[in-house]
Amino acid sequence: MALLPARRLLLAAALGPAGRRLPRHHGNLRLPLLPEPLSSPSPLPAAVAAARLSSGAGGEPEAEGPNRATAMLRHLLLKLRATGPVTVAEYMREALTNPGQGYYTRRGGIGETGDFVTSPEISQVFGELIGIWYISEWIAAGKPKVFQLVELGPGRGTLTDDILRVFNQLASLISKCDVSIHLVEVSPKLSETQAQMLTGGKVQANPKDNSAYMKGISKTGIPIFWYRDIQDVPLGYSFYLAHEFFDALPIHKFQRTEKGWREVLVDIDPEVPDQLRFVLSPSSTPATEYFIQPEERRDHVEVCPEAGVIIQRLACRIEKDGGAALVADYGHDGTKTDTFRGFRNHRLHDVLRAPGTADLTADVDFSYLRKMTEGRTATLGPITQREFLKNMGIDLRLQVLLQNSCDTATQEQLRHSYDMLMNPKKMGDCFNFFALLPHHRLVHPDKEQKPEPKSPLPPIAGFSELLLK
Ligand code: SAH
Repeated sequence: MALLPARRLLLAAALGPAGRRLPRHHGNLRLPLLPEPLSSPSPLPAAVAAARLSSGAGGEPEAEGPNRATAMLRHLLLKLRATGPVTVAEYMREALTNPGQGYYTRRGGIGETGDFVTSPEISQVFGELIGIWYISEWIAAGKPKVFQLVELGPGRGTLTDDILRVFNQLASLISKCDVSIHLVEVSPKLSETQAQMLTGGKVQANPKDNSAYMKGISKTGIPIFWYRDIQDVPLGYSFYLAHEFFDALPIHKFQRTEKGWREVLVDIDPEVPDQLRFVLSPSSTPATEYFIQPEERRDHVEVCPEAGVIIQRLACRIEKDGGAALVADYGHDGTKTDTFRGFRNHRLHDVLRAPGTADLTADVDFSYLRKMTEGRTATLGPITQREFLKNMGIDLRLQVLLQNSCDTATQEQLRHSYDMLMNPKKMGDCFNFFALLPHHRLVHPDKEQKPEPKSPLPPIAGFSELLLK
């Protein structure tokens, strides 16, 4: 008789009942569905390159006019007048996470009424399959008695909510395990939304006994803690999750010129009042020296050192304490050039216009993340979202949900959200999954032994199709 692989059994066990089958939003995504988002700047003299980069920021005309001086813009203008041009990374950090006026701090518009929509907001199936992934890794690790699920940038908290529902449905399997949830979130506004979603708003601010800035108990009885920085999260066996998190971290931009590499900076446009523009650094800077590899062939490069530092921290923690990290985002493997873009009200938005009112984002360079793990962990991927979800059994899950739903509107919604997640022209091919795992998870510790070890390592769900044997 054909045996179902453990993962499939798990899937069936976890997701047998229909669970929550609320239709979700199917609006626009935070990725351009265009062949190339922005033109790649070619080696041009500084002034010309500045103009071209500036116009390359693209976007739709705005109802309130191009020069609407937001509080953030006024703050930046004062700063630029006082200190001169700033790096794109500094501009992005201010625009997104300035404690008073940053986009995520004040607006953070995820969902239909916001600026962009993400996979977990489209379908509950997405989070359920990710929940299964963690359970499958937990089983492969020999079911440790304690684990932390650490989510970086949890947005509205929807993904964690869906994962917690899977954990709850699998209570018979994990009830003896001490599970806790740790959310790394800088935005007070979004942490409030997450608290509402996950605990019904019953949280304690600044608990005395903890490094967290907030804590609560999930609707299913699991403790949840909030932090501003991954370094505040307690050490221990942990599963990490970063969905559309790394793309929100500040990038440095570099342009190759006839005189060598120059960093792209943000400055005041002397021609237009209250308007910003891109310029190039007049000479090379420590950043150009440090971040550009001698063998680099592209003419324009984006580097996100903060992503490098965070992935290094995750790799160190996994090497020391065990666990795994799953990173899902749009990105490339060290091939793309100018991907910096803005989103507002589900439309592309000029990155230099009305800072603080739009989401700013750049594709994740997975080759850089891999390099920054410095071999501390094994890495898998990036593979496309379509492949990952297919390998995780999304088709089977869709069938179960379709069979359990009696009205055609829900069935239509289920098919529609499946298409959004899987269609190569929608999210299927643009989004990638990338994982960090302890080396021993991929290479048997007794590999050198002859004869070969008797028990083969369980395959890693999602990254390889588990065929019926
Ligand atoms: N993962 C969610 C939300 C993605 S939006 C989803 O897929 O729906 C990016 C998230 O990262 C937001 O929650 C934002 O507030 C958070 N964020 C951005 N920069 C951050 C930083 N430096 N540290 C922690 N969280 C950050």
